[in-house]
Amino acid sequence: MCGIVGFTGNSPAVPILIKGLYRLEYRGYDSAGVAAFTKEGLEVVKSRGRIANLEEKIKEIGGMNATCGIGHTRWATHGEPSDRNSHPHLGGRGKVAVVHNGIIENYMELRQQLEAHGYEFQSETDTETVAHLVDYLHDGSNHSLAMTVLKAVGMLRGSYALGVVSMDDPEEIVAARRDNPLVIGIGEGENMIASDVTAIISRTRKYIILDDGEVAVVRPDSVVVMNAFGDIVEKKIQEVTWDLSAAEKGGYEHFMIKEIMEQPAAVTNTIHPRVKDGKINFEDSGLTDERLKNAKHVHIIGCGSALHAGMVGRSVIESLCRVRSTASIASEFRYENPIIRPDDICIVISQSGETADTLAAMRLAKQAGAYTVAVVNVVSSTIAREADGVLYLWAGPEIAVATTKAYSAQLAALYLFAVKMANVRGTITEEQEKAYCETLYTIPEKISEMLAGKEKMQYLASRYANRSSVFFLGRGLDYAAAMEASLKLKEISYIHSEAYAAGELKHGTISLIEQGTLVVALATQPALYEKTISNIREVVSRGAEVILITGADFDCDASCCSHVIKLPEIRQEMSASLSIIPLQLLSYYVAVERNCDVDKPRNLAKSVTVE
Ligand code: GLU
Repeated sequence: MCGIVGFTGNSPAVPILIKGLYRLEYRGYDSAGVAAFTKEGLEVVKSRGRIANLEEKIKEIGGMNATCGIGHTRWATHGEPSDRNSHPHLGGRGKVAVVHNGIIENYMELRQQLEAHGYEFQSETDTETVAHLVDYLHDGSNHSLAMTVLKAVGMLRGSYALGVVSMDDPEEIVAARRDNPLVIGIGEGENMIASDVTAIISRTRKYIILDDGEVAVVRPDSVVVMNAFGDIVEKKIQEVTWDLSAAEKGGYEHFMIKEIMEQPAAVTNTIHPRVKDGKINFEDSGLTDERLKNAKHVHIIGCGSALHAGMVGRSVIESLCRVRSTASIASEFRYENPIIRPDDICIVISQSGETADTLAAMRLAKQAGAYTVAVVNVVSSTIAREADGVLYLWAGPEIAVATTKAYSAQLAALYLFAVKMANVRGTITEEQEKAYCETLYTIPEKISEMLAGKEKMQYLASRYANRSSVFFLGRGLDYAAAMEASLKLKEISYIHSEAYAAGELKHGTISLIEQGTLVVALATQPALYEKTISNIREVVSRGAEVILITGADFDCDASCCSHVIKLPEIRQEMSASLSIIPLQLLSYYVAVERNCDVDKPRNLAKSVTVE
């Protein structure tokens, strides 16, 4: 969510900052700005809306000639998106500039105190408080900027990633973080700060991760990191393993369709390294057989699509392992005083590994003694680092806000977990484990088969793109898949849509079905075919048009449906990996048809790092 980038070196900083901001665009934002040391002093340009507006403004003032600066894309939490509220914010008399991701919870209190000291606020943001606070603590003191920032952050409640610069030293950027990601890019004679590595990778592949409570002093030829006591800490230099092209569109019109098409590879990358000779190996996750055997409850936690993957996982784990499993919304779980016991396993799912609510829920489970397993895509993200064990997805960078390949890879990771746990607990035999592994291996090619039918989904999209409301129905696993399909459609096409457990519709919502309403029904579980067909008849008789997604061996009368899409043969527990594919394509093509901003849907952010 939102982004920070900073550069100090010998090259023109502002074009580098702008490029970095473009790379961070996918995270979602509503305004952008930069501050840089030019011959005018500490110059700030900011603008509501797209980065192109910011570029335009910079052009209007004749460019900004600087070798050090900070940039920001904002996703407003305090104060409307406007030029005034955009970052960077200046402190005091314009000596200090600050960019911030996160929320300062005690900003009102601090603001009142700073106002009492004569500070005048220009915006409604919580961030401006930090700028004035740093100025207040720095002014007249003989402490370095870093020591001042260290003192200032000690007075803040809430979450932050911060980039701070001061007129005192126009080559230096001070960075700090708590509960919001920040990395430092290590270059040759130049260094950077950024919310994630996509913003630095065009200049360097080397980076270090700032940890909570740390403050870094970044200069062209040095990076020094201190802990909360001001002691210097040694940091490990990491290297980005993927190529820049993985974060580019590669000839596709949008990242979303590129990532939809990448799903066979993403799922392969999650499954293959962990399956050998018909056995699942979890060495990399730290999950021991002992733990899998003793667990009495598997909690699964996530938000949005990660939660939907968790709902599928929950059902597969319960049915294969006969162990109690629940899928919870992270933001609810953390405040509902959940019952967690020391033997429990808690699987936390987050593509970015930075989702604030999921992170907080994981910390809660960990504190209660549960063994936490992170299912994440971004290597070395906060959730991955703090969890007891990690199952990396290895799906490659996901840029489109609406997840597709990470969701499919999350399903694959959860199947692996379920099959492994079932074998360890003796609810399936070695032979059965082997057979499940064989099925897992076939998922990528079956996804490819589904992708080959994309023209049909494009046709259906052109036919139904004008609908104002769509319903998705399914039972059991298909209900979980319906939730994800519905979210996909509404988030990028802005069509109102709801997912309903097929048997539940008649308890109220069926009153919304009218002539021409589109209903997408999922029926991939043979034991439930007939039940779901009955529910389909109920909506058809009230005027609905139905697209049915069903299993290869479906043998009921589907003549009431307008379109039937059959999945290739697959074990029923794993059908969600295939049923979602045509529905991702449908959402994508509907959004394109409606001229929506597919990769950056309005109001949404890719990685939600605030509560
Ligand atoms: N809370 C700050 C604001 O509303 C920062 C939001 C962000 O993370 O972009 O300005």
